[in-house]
Amino acid sequence: MSGAAPKKDPVAVEAEVREKIHLEILKRTGAYHANDHVLLPSGQHTTEYIEKTLVTTEPSFTEGLGGVIAKHFAQWPVDVVLSTGPGALILSHCVARAHPSRPVVVYGAKGLSRGKRRVTLPAEFQRLLRPGTKVLLIEDLVSSGTTLNLLIELVEQLGAHVVGVGCLWRRTSVEVDGKPVFSLVSRDFPTYNPEECPLCRKGVPLNEEFVRRSGHRRPSSVQEPNPS
Ligand SMILES: [Zn+2]
Repeated sequence: MSGAAPKKDPVAVEAEVREKIHLEILKRTGAYHANDHVLLPSGQHTTEYIEKTLVTTEPSFTEGLGGVIAKHFAQWPVDVVLSTGPGALILSHCVARAHPSRPVVVYGAKGLSRGKRRVTLPAEFQRLLRPGTKVLLIEDLVSSGTTLNLLIELVEQLGAHVVGVGCLWRRTSVEVDGKPVFSLVSRDFPTYNPEECPLCRKGVPLNEEFVRRSGHRRPSSVQEPNPS
């Protein structure tokens, strides 16, 4: 060995190691698929996929990861932890439980209005978000950032203040309206148009199971019988 290799910043190395551990934890929930050839709802192809609904199925993992997010934001007082969607709500409970300010947990509802995404805060929660209230936003996965930006707008509309954003996973290309974002895993993976996809060119079979839900991928449901 000759020549002095530039020494890596120990803080950066530690962050890298921690990110690997968090990714391993997400893999153990079965949510994370790597080295695959996946069809995305957008019609593009990619090598990695994360099944959002599986991410928070292991309570001890969710509590542990929520604790890491809470620790990161422990130095800032937080009155309210706000999220939308069931997975993010489970995580936000774990974050709030571990944060020294003992914040309350509230959640908005996601919906669509004429093809546009919308976030609504139930009227019962509105007295908890007032001018000056310090709000920590929690998401499970941030892929486009649209929901988070809507949540920020909602909080600011009520005169409250966004302390920061915590999430399990973030696509690194996402910008979130100038707020500090802390993610346990930050990754970006290339997506390809089918005609330019190198995996298609290599003849790797395309995994369509996350888009074309058929057979065993169909949701289970039951229904109340009709009155006879
Ligand atoms: Zn392909």
